[in-house]
This record gives sequence, structure tokens and C-alpha cells, in this order.
Amino acid sequence: MAAQTLAAYAADESQSRGRRYPESRAAYRGEYQRDRDRIIHSTAFRRLVYKTQVFVNHEGDLYRTRLTHSLEVAQIGRTVAGALSLNESLTEAICLAHDLGHTPFGHAGQDTLNECMRDYGGFEHNLQSLRVVDELEAKYADFPGLNLMFETREGILKHCSVGNARQLGDVGERFLNRGQPGLEAQLANIADAIAYNNHDVDDGFRAGLLSLEQLCKQRLFGVHYDVVHTRYPDLEDRRLIYEIMRRMINTVVTDLIDETRRRLDAFRPQSIDDVRRAGETLVAFSDETAELHAGLKRFLNRHLYRHETKLAMTKEVQAMIRNLFAAYTSDVGLMPPEFARAAELPDAAGRARVIADYIAGMTDRYAMAEHERICGKS
Ligand code: MG
Repeated sequence: MAAQTLAAYAADESQSRGRRYPESRAAYRGEYQRDRDRIIHSTAFRRLVYKTQVFVNHEGDLYRTRLTHSLEVAQIGRTVAGALSLNESLTEAICLAHDLGHTPFGHAGQDTLNECMRDYGGFEHNLQSLRVVDELEAKYADFPGLNLMFETREGILKHCSVGNARQLGDVGERFLNRGQPGLEAQLANIADAIAYNNHDVDDGFRAGLLSLEQLCKQRLFGVHYDVVHTRYPDLEDRRLIYEIMRRMINTVVTDLIDETRRRLDAFRPQSIDDVRRAGETLVAFSDETAELHAGLKRFLNRHLYRHETKLAMTKEVQAMIRNLFAAYTSDVGLMPPEFARAAELPDAAGRARVIADYIAGMTDRYAMAEHERICGKS
């Protein structure tokens, strides 16, 4: 689209590998804007409002959900895309779609569904995000899914096992030949990590699971705490946290832009295909910031995601997913008619996949209500 000047290494829709099913061009939108709009209008996107990021949806109204998380990722992604003259619309589309395949109950849900699917090809949420936009959204008369541009699909598929990559055709190729995706995809991936790392600090503190003392031992947090506390010694904790978080995000985003510029200067890619062949990720933190960021992630892993009050909830939701999977497996008629019909397949793997699609699409509260309906109160 005309408004933004794109760098030579950015994704340009006129050079795109296009859509799986050819369509005429949009009259007054760019093709990646059109993708973004399709994503926002999808059923899976609307359901993100009731899906967990870290806290289960009923634990409180103030925590982030996957919808607000996805918006925050898009916000960070667009800012960096603008600074680097990358394609903002494509970046936004990938960011908004990156979690569409997530199960209810966050990572606990995803890991449990993966276990249930162990004998049937497993369950990967990234692959499921692609499956949602390629197959499961039923919105168009002429094709399945949302028929997104290749570069959007390439960005949504962040990770993928080699076995699955072989079955995906062009969008799986880079996992077989160690290629990189376009810069917008690389950026969306890091914007996701920036968003959840920083915002989980906020939610964890709000929930009372992380204390200021603990957080101050984290280098990335501690450095900014000292600056803010010295300048505003009487600031109440909530505002203090926001002041620190804003500085943390600003620090890592600035580093990301600087280091990426340095790499782009060194590699001088002249097209998105040069980026794909670069042999390493070009959108990246400096080594020092990468280590700080990884340190914060390790800290959250230890002190928030595995906090004992979270572990109790984790066990409960794991049991719900297992029970639902077992119940639908023994009686597909417990699912709505369109899934029950789709699950009437002779092969167990095909049947299990339909069940996994159904469970993965559930919101936290729908999964809980279904569990109560089918299995009784837990
Ligand atoms: Mg995410």
C-alpha cells in the first residue's frame, strides 16, 4: 500500500508468493491489510478473549487474555516494523494471528492435548494456528479457511516438526532446508516474547504471586527499579511497576531495532528471498539483551508459571482436557453435529484430529462448562 515506504528487504505484496486459491485484488486495501481484516473477523480471533494467557479466565478480570496479549504483540510489532521500514500490515496480521491455534488453559492445555494426541501425530499450537487459517475457519464459499497470503502463513508457522513440515508443502520447506522466514515473521516472533515477558511480570505482581523484592533481583527489572525509585521515592507500587515496565519494554525494543539495523547493514539483503537465505535470524537482540531477556523468562518460569497456586490449577485443567478427550473418543455424538459428522471416520487418527480441533477451539469457560456437562462437577 502506498502510505508506507518499504525497504528492499521488506515483504512487498507485488512480490508475494500469493494465496493458495487465486482471488482478484482488493479495491482499496493492500493484500496484507486484507489478511489482517480476515483474521480480526475470524471466529478463532473472537474466542481469544476467553482464552488464557497465564491466568485462567475466571481468576480475575484484570489479567491479560490471549486477545489483549495479541493486541499488545501487534502494537510492539508495528512500532518496530515502522522503525525498520518493514511491512507494518503484514507484521500486524502475523502478530494478531500468532495464537489463534492455542487451546484453552494456555500451555497446560496445549501440553495435555499433545499427550492425548501422542499416537495420532501430536498437537502443536503453532501448527494449529496455521490449520485454523488454512482449514478450520469456514467463512468463504469458494475455499476452506481464510486463504491468507503466503507470507502471513509463513509467519504464523513459527515452529514445526520435520515430520509435519514434510506434509505442509511450500510453507513447510524452510524447516527442511533451514531457511529463515521474512523479517516481518521474525519480528512477530520476538514481539511475542517481549510482550509476554514484560506483561507477565505485571500480571504476576498484580496477582500477588511475584513480589517487588523478587523482581528486583532480576537484572532487567532491577536496573530500572533503581532509576525509577531514585527519581520517585514515594511512588506507590502499581505506578512504580508501570514506570519500570515501560522502561523495560523501551530498552529491549530499542536494542532490537539497533541490533537488527546492524545485522541488516552487515548482510545487506536486497529482497525477502535474500532474508530467507541469510542463514541466521536478522531481527534479533544484541547478545547482552538476549541474555537479560532469557534471564527474565527463566525467572518467570520458575517463580510464576510454576508457582504452587498455579500448579494446583494446572493439574485441574489437565484433567479436564484429558476427560473431555476420552469422552469424545468413546462417543463422538457428545460433540456438536458438524464435529460428530466429521469424526465419523474409519481411521482413529482422523477421528482424534477432529476431536483435537474441537477441544483446541474451546475457550476456557466453554471447556469448563462442557466438562461439567459431560463429566459432572470436578
Ligand atoms: Mg503469544
